Amino acid sequence: MANSDTQSIAILGAGITGLTAAHRLSQRGHRVRVFEQSGRVGGAIRTESTGGWLVEAGPNSLLTGEPAVTALIRELGLNGHVVTARPEARHRYIVRDGRPLALPLTPPALLTSPLFSLNAKVRLLAELLSGRRVRTADLSLEDFIRSHFGQELVDYALNPFVSGVYAGNPRKLSARHAFPKLWQLEQTHGSLLRGQLAVAKARQARHEPAPSIFSFTHGLQTLVHALASRLPAGTLTLGSRLESLVPGARWNVIWNDGEAARTESFDAVIAALPAASLAGLRFGPLGERPLAGLDAIAHPPVSSLFLGFRRDQVAHPLDGFGLLVPAVEQRSTLGILFSSSLFPGRAPDGQVALTVMAGGTRQPELAALPADRLLAAVRGDLTGLLGVKGEAVFQRHTFWPRAIPQYDLGHERHLDSMAACERTYPGLLIGGQARNGISVPACIAAGESLAERAAATL
Ligand SMILES: Cc1cc2nc3c(=O)[nH]c(=O)nc-3n(C[C@H](O)[C@H](O)[C@H](O)COP(=O)(O)OP(=O)(O)OC[C@H]3O[C@@H](n4cnc5c(N)ncnc54)[C@H](O)[C@@H]3O)c2cc1C
Repeated sequence: MANSDTQSIAILGAGITGLTAAHRLSQRGHRVRVFEQSGRVGGAIRTESTGGWLVEAGPNSLLTGEPAVTALIRELGLNGHVVTARPEARHRYIVRDGRPLALPLTPPALLTSPLFSLNAKVRLLAELLSGRRVRTADLSLEDFIRSHFGQELVDYALNPFVSGVYAGNPRKLSARHAFPKLWQLEQTHGSLLRGQLAVAKARQARHEPAPSIFSFTHGLQTLVHALASRLPAGTLTLGSRLESLVPGARWNVIWNDGEAARTESFDAVIAALPAASLAGLRFGPLGERPLAGLDAIAHPPVSSLFLGFRRDQVAHPLDGFGLLVPAVEQRSTLGILFSSSLFPGRAPDGQVALTVMAGGTRQPELAALPADRLLAAVRGDLTGLLGVKGEAVFQRHTFWPRAIPQYDLGHERHLDSMAACERTYPGLLIGGQARNGISVPACIAAGESLAERAAATL
């Protein structure tokens, strides 16, 4: 075994997963080179700051509770840059019968809430009495939640929530893989509500705060830039698309920098790429594609439309995180984030920022519209749900043709193929949003674990 400082590792992809792994491995003294096809770092994390507006084109906020994230932020010296969501961001609105209604957060609020019918409320409370269930197979998220809470909660709670997280279809998503913590709660407690209460109680006993939402004063790019700026000079190779890998005791990595194909050899390779890029990776002299099956993972398109208005143009108090729209309401938006209510510094004084999400598995054709037609399509929702008047004073449109990987029923075959590929080709490690969870915190934890595993194999 060579000295750790002579070990070299290629990292494919400079999203948050690849950057976290690169940071850890270079800290351990390994020589790291990160290959990124685009001209920028951060992948899905993309912040723009202009004229007092702070636009998050991709992820908007992160959830606390992942220890790897807390430790990384502290270690990067970013604690002073963290902004936690305003207290009113606890409130979320769900659209029912064309009106945004507050999601009840306490048992008394539930009893009086117009969001759910009496039947649904009784069903919700009765879930506390659920016994253990024996599941021999995975099932769709919709079937899973219906079996606990009934159809109304599927339509007016699960469906909009899933649109907000996956922009996906709960009839297709796998309960086991898309929301593993819920699946686990059912295994251990039977009742999901009793399980949640037990988790909260255990957290209080450890004197840990309840999970909360946060970002950074200058947006999520802060994290990306802090990681990238700590890498030794020459680590990042932007504008370099990975084409093929030749496995061996040393791995030959072949990339194209736009002018020519280039090669360099490494002791190990970390692939922190989205599913389609993993699927396209060619291996060995014959150019096999052992991960070609990952092409079957659906990635519905999403458009994010960041809109700025004067405060007096919006009638709604915007006192919350935002609103979510259930599919049964048949509208044009998946949801609207109240971006300037969530965190300070998102809009100039006297103005407000809204982020409209459209498309997803529900209406993929909407996501692909140019900005003016998309704005026209969501206009009715802005006016009808939030009382928006007049034209936006600022706007940014970002189209994500392949936004979020869907952990649909049968996802284990993709997990198996990634695990099998690692076994066939020692020295290769695969991780990130296609494998370890779609949230930024899950990807940071994945980056940490990839670095650990890579260091252990060298
Ligand atoms: C619109 C949107 C909203 C979201 N909202 C949230 C949110 O609010 N909170 C949250 O926690 N998560 C959110 N997410 C999810 C989260 O942002 C992503 O899952 C996460 O950032 C993925 O990180 P990653 O590093 O695994 O992949 P990526 O960020 O996709 O990075 C992969 C990198 O690999 C590069 N690459 C691809 N192919 C090649 C190749 N052949 N050669 C070299 N480089 C290549 C890409 O250019 C990219 O930079 C959102 C995602 C989107 C799209």
